[in-house]
Amino acid sequence: MDVVDVANWAAEKLGRQGVIIAREYKFMCSSLGQELITKDIKELGLTRVVVAACSPHLHEKTFRTAAKNAGLNPYLVELASIREQVSWVHSDKAVATAKAKAVVSGAVSRVIENAALDEIRVPINPNTLVVGGGIAGIQSALEIANAGFHVYLVEREPSIGGHMAQFDKTFPTLDCSACILTPRMVEAGTHPNITLLTWSEVEKVTGFVGNFHVTIKKKARFINEALCTGCGICQEKCPKKVIDEVYEAGLGYRKAVYTPFAQAVPNFPVMDKENCTYFIKGTCKACEKFCPTGAIDFNQQDELINIDVGNIVLATGYDLFDARRVSNYGYGRLPNVFTSLEFERLSNAAGPTSGNIVLRDGKTTPKSVGIIHCVGSRDKNFNNYCSVICCMQG
Ligand SMILES: Cc1cc2nc3c(=O)[nH]c(=O)nc-3n(C[C@H](O)[C@H](O)[C@H](O)COP(=O)(O)OP(=O)(O)OC[C@H]3O[C@@H](n4cnc5c(N)ncnc54)[C@H](O)[C@@H]3O)c2cc1C
Ligand code: SF4
Ligand code: SF4
Repeated sequence: MDVVDVANWAAEKLGRQGVIIAREYKFMCSSLGQELITKDIKELGLTRVVVAACSPHLHEKTFRTAAKNAGLNPYLVELASIREQVSWVHSDKAVATAKAKAVVSGAVSRVIENAALDEIRVPINPNTLVVGGGIAGIQSALEIANAGFHVYLVEREPSIGGHMAQFDKTFPTLDCSACILTPRMVEAGTHPNITLLTWSEVEKVTGFVGNFHVTIKKKARFINEALCTGCGICQEKCPKKVIDEVYEAGLGYRKAVYTPFAQAVPNFPVMDKENCTYFIKGTCKACEKFCPTGAIDFNQQDELINIDVGNIVLATGYDLFDARRVSNYGYGRLPNVFTSLEFERLSNAAGPTSGNIVLRDGKTTPKSVGIIHCVGSRDKNFNNYCSVICCMQG
């Protein structure tokens, strides 16, 4: 606390804002410090306590328990964080001391308004909603499901997998990304405690911690999942090719009815209404004609699913930095500047070039390759911070 002049202004507090005792003690969280508080509450009949020390996150419970032990309602205690928010982030003693005074004054004003509260017990719904089916969402879902609780795993794309499904090999083991990811995807897709909702998005959340009511929109796939065997004939026969902006990062094609990649979970295709010739022109239906199980359903509608959960895990991942913003590197202007994700697709044997590193024309092998790391990161014009990702994949 060398940065904050605690000793001088602790005394200043006396008599102000109804403060009748202000103490300075080095280790207020120690048992001796707590005893000081309980003693003062009992002997001076204190009705409110403010502790100006570290973050409430660390010791709020400690000081509230001390108050409770002295017979004071624990919610009549407030903590003013003058360590994390003041002494650790300032070096100028005068500025730090002035800020600490303001923070403590705020806490004193606040505690005056506090009402005594009684703790109540609220039943918690044991079900969990995990939003986002990338590796983080999959792993969270599996751990919760393996602990015996039910999980609703909601993914907006047709398959779970997220970015990891697009990579060739992954640091640090340099194992094939799909080899690590696929078993987890399959486990999540078949786990008895996981309800997998792909091609779905959360529409509405109401309720409160422990008891949420969630409405999920399951978008029409135009495929009857009960009949589809995942044979892939529909996409083979579909005449409509579309640039695959998601899974192939714009470097490859998919059909208007498609499963995003071979190991997709679930393995049912989705029909892309915006690009399907039947939805645009009213003719085609080649997929319906060739589907051996009659699973194509052009009349399928979006469905709203209501669930109750106690916990929500948000694992919606990231979007790539738009490299066009750093114009001097030429991405989007020069044809053969690629993002790292595009490079992953190029080097992936299952990618659009079967793993051949070629230029955008799809055939010319580059004579040389230059790699620029950290584009958009550690740059005051874009993101000051480090993403902690680039070097892992470099
Ligand atoms: C080119 C590149 C190479 C990399 N290489 C490596 C490596 O070698 N090793 C390594 O450890 N890390 C690597 N990383 C980092 C790695 O990709 C991430 O740490 C990891 O994939 C993040 O997983 P995630 O589940 O958090 O997010 P994501 O993979 O982004 O998954 C998020 C999921 O949430 C879904 N989603 C988003 N919003 C919603 C919504 N509203 N509703 C429903 N679903 C939603 C998305 O569709 C997606 O499926 C690399 C990153 C890049 C860009
Ligand atoms: S052809 Fe029919 S059964 Fe096969 S993947 Fe397509 S919709 Fe499913
Ligand atoms: S109806 Fe649409 S999805 Fe089916 S084959 Fe024709 S273009 Fe493809």
